[in-house]
Amino acid sequence: MLEVDGLRVRYGNVLALDGVTLRVDDGEIACILGPSGSGKSTLLRAVAGFEDTTRGTVRWDGEDLGAVPVHRRRFGLMFQDHALFAHRDVLGNVAFGLRMLRLPRDEVAARARDALDRVGLSGFEHRKVRELSGGEQQRVALARSLAPEPRLLMLDEPLGSLDRELRERLVVELHELLRGLGITTLFVTHDQDEAFALADTVVLLRDGRVEQVGTPGEVWANPRTASAARFLGFATIVDVTGSDAGIVSPWGRHPAPKGIASGRVRIGFRPDGLRIDDAGPVPGVVRSSTFRRDHFLVRVDSELGALEVAAAEPVPAGTPVRVAADPGAAVVLPA
Ligand code: ADP
Repeated sequence: MLEVDGLRVRYGNVLALDGVTLRVDDGEIACILGPSGSGKSTLLRAVAGFEDTTRGTVRWDGEDLGAVPVHRRRFGLMFQDHALFAHRDVLGNVAFGLRMLRLPRDEVAARARDALDRVGLSGFEHRKVRELSGGEQQRVALARSLAPEPRLLMLDEPLGSLDRELRERLVVELHELLRGLGITTLFVTHDQDEAFALADTVVLLRDGRVEQVGTPGEVWANPRTASAARFLGFATIVDVTGSDAGIVSPWGRHPAPKGIASGRVRIGFRPDGLRIDDAGPVPGVVRSSTFRRDHFLVRVDSELGALEVAAAEPVPAGTPVRVAADPGAAVVLPA
């Protein structure tokens, strides 16, 4: 079990991590998700042991790792875009990390073959890396990280800058591989699809602080702050007033989470939670319609502010419209 408690990392005037606390249970896959600059890489480096931490602790099974150097932590790192050695064969790539451990030659080969077997690549030992498919290269990279038998696997933006089509395929394959391995895993990404597809637990990081922790389903459906909501696609966020009688907007009464009741609150909608409908209660004027793969994103200026609405067809700019919503599709947020 990995426990990070009150971790702070400072670079000059920048507080890159500002009291991060989190825990990853044995066999759990946890993802740190946040925008660029939120502190994800710093957190991963601090757990690995590459950062001087000004305050806080990193523990494994209760043992404080503060004085344990990087190579003694037994944490494995899989790098962005796999970072394989093109001039070595598959076995040579997987054996690389083991040679650094100064193990006997036959043990290196045996462990490397065992790691290849775990990722389903037996028989690929002498293939050249550049002759492998993207999925096979990913498995070689994973085998290389697994070969030294780390107790924690860490992945840094595992599918980072691969092109979209390959990424969408590899995310499914990586999910199946990680599930099958059962190893405790911590990974960081700015890519929501990657985070929600792979993780048991999603940790939202923002400005060096943990903003929210939960299962992918919980976090996706119920972001707890306006910034988390915006990051997760609730593009329309409007101010409303709550009272003891409930939270009411022009669209109706919204179910409120515990702790938010009266005073100024906000409600957020994803584009598919709003629709253009002559019977809708909110009038507005279309500003633009943008093609978005399986729908058009229609931006509407209204008295409540800008609304982003999913529509099957584009609507010309300047068209007066009315906007409807299912009140239950809104997330209620503190002001
Ligand atoms: P992320 O991985 O989420 O993009 P980082 O952990 O790389 O974020 O960075 C967090 C913050 O710390 C940013 O403001 C970044 O500019 C700053 N930072 C990161 N590394 C250094 C460094 N070596 N020196 C100074 N500032 C840094």
